[in-house]
Amino acid sequence: MTEKSEFRRYLVNIDSISAHQLFTDCLVIGAGIAGLRAALEAAEHHRVIIVCKGKAEESNTFKAQGGIASVLDKADTFESHIADTLRTGCGICDEAVVDLVVHQGPELVEQLLEWGTEFDLSENHIAATLEGGHSYPRVAHAHGDETGRAIAEALLDRVRHNPNIRIMENFFTIDLLTDNNKCMGIIGHERKRGPQIIWAANTILATGGAGRLYRETTNPEVATGDGIAMAYRAGAVLRDLEMVQFHPTTLYIAGATRALITETLRGEGAILVDSKGRHFMKEYHEAAELAPRDIVSRAILAQMRKTESTHVYLDVRHFDKAYFAKRFPWINELVESFDIDITHDLIPVRPSAHYMVGGVKTDSSAKTSVENLYACGEIASTGLHGANRLGSNSLLEGLVFGKIAGQEVSKNKRATAAHLKRPIIKHQIPHSDRTRLDTADVRNSLRALMWRNVGITRLDQPLSEAQEIIRFWQRYVMDKIFDSPAGWECQNKLTASLLIAQSAQQRRESRGVHYRRDFPKIDDENFKKHIKISRKSEENQ
Ligand SMILES: Cc1cc2nc3c(=O)[nH]c(=O)nc-3n(C[C@H](O)[C@H](O)[C@H](O)COP(=O)(O)OP(=O)(O)OC[C@H]3O[C@@H](n4cnc5c(N)ncnc54)[C@H](O)[C@@H]3O)c2cc1C
Repeated sequence: MTEKSEFRRYLVNIDSISAHQLFTDCLVIGAGIAGLRAALEAAEHHRVIIVCKGKAEESNTFKAQGGIASVLDKADTFESHIADTLRTGCGICDEAVVDLVVHQGPELVEQLLEWGTEFDLSENHIAATLEGGHSYPRVAHAHGDETGRAIAEALLDRVRHNPNIRIMENFFTIDLLTDNNKCMGIIGHERKRGPQIIWAANTILATGGAGRLYRETTNPEVATGDGIAMAYRAGAVLRDLEMVQFHPTTLYIAGATRALITETLRGEGAILVDSKGRHFMKEYHEAAELAPRDIVSRAILAQMRKTESTHVYLDVRHFDKAYFAKRFPWINELVESFDIDITHDLIPVRPSAHYMVGGVKTDSSAKTSVENLYACGEIASTGLHGANRLGSNSLLEGLVFGKIAGQEVSKNKRATAAHLKRPIIKHQIPHSDRTRLDTADVRNSLRALMWRNVGITRLDQPLSEAQEIIRFWQRYVMDKIFDSPAGWECQNKLTASLLIAQSAQQRRESRGVHYRRDFPKIDDENFKKHIKISRKSEENQ
């Protein structure tokens, strides 16, 4: 079969007869909150393998600070959480999904507590705080600002004690194997044993986000958008990829890695000031520091331009030092490591890419458009977030849809490795004589390009140019066969970035996190809808 390199079905040669093979009832790709929760549910009736590309502790989940949103207080209501989520989603949330997630939240968060998550408590109940966009304090947190780590550790502990679940770390999933639009498992590469196929009766994609496509990001190294690219190659429908959320406040110290300064800090009274010490947020939104993230990010960017500065500051000098150290221990340690004394000094911050709102389209059972393939967590586009994610709703979404995906798999008791009819899959990539580019160089240049041309504010011409440049790189990168994660990640990053730029160009309006300087208004008449993209639709153009 000949194919254009940008539409290559698989990134590597495959011979399913001679490859090293494993079999499982259910394969989960990813060990964040979504993958772990899905595995626990699927393991009720099935044997499960979880693969993750680094250590299980390397995920966006582990980095999550602020908390997990849920209606936990009697004075709070489901209606209020639903209304906040819908308002933030700017008209394109799936209301049935919002209803489902919000209603399932409290029980599943309480279950996390039962399973050993050390949530901060107040009078024996889970304590909750306020965050931007929420109209009630409903954000549960653990160890102050280490919520994600606390949740993931409790889930991992349960997973590691479950005899039906095996975790394979340092296992890079290269591609989903499909036969007639049915997912049959994956081809991957384990650091110790090299390439192998895992045949699975059901596959759950839980590969998380894609922040690493951008120069400035809060995401750890694993968040390279592999799930977007492999789902696209497998023919799945992807949705709203233009919706990339930028977090307003990332610690900005030249040369240091970017670290997120949680939103709850603003929820508890931190103030944004510019390089001249002016409190500017009131000029941009009546809710000032508590305005939705996209508005705060754009306001900071505008103020940076106005003052010709590379950053603004968070002012927490009015906080009690001991309270700050107890409530935000991780941030306290971080700023102290840069000799910032919070009672005297301002904390330099700027926005950066944070959360992928769009992703692989699923229905309310976590099913994708590819048979036997489910998706949950940040990789999925369930319809919960619409055009913008309300803070702390993503851990919640991963938890709820992780459970749903696992439950769906668990329901079908006959969907086991024993019943799996394996097809013969052979794929041979033609040799290419084209010049070999330095992939590390391409990755860095791509991240800078995405930040400049497909970033917080967008315009038609730079979006076109970004696609042109990415296509140029693709000609020299997508035609090669790599034998290590760095090469496959580069190929995936190019694919995911191109799809984001294409989607951003298609949405000729501003909605939620997607801001077009040439179309600054919301356009309900033409765009109160989703932007969908799939390999089949692209090939037919
Ligand atoms: C700094 C930071 C702070 C945050 N704070 C909050 C917060 O307070 N509240 C909130 O609700 N959300 C927060 N978020 C967002 C939230 O953490 C994520 O959306 C959520 O944890 C995603 O969970 P997940 O299970 O979908 O993916 P992840 O937790 O990112 O896990 C992805 C998994 O997929 C694996 N993987 C990826 N590609 C491959 C591959 N090719 N092969 C094999 N394995 C692969 C990774 O190894 C990893 O195990 C924050 C995010 C960041 C980065």
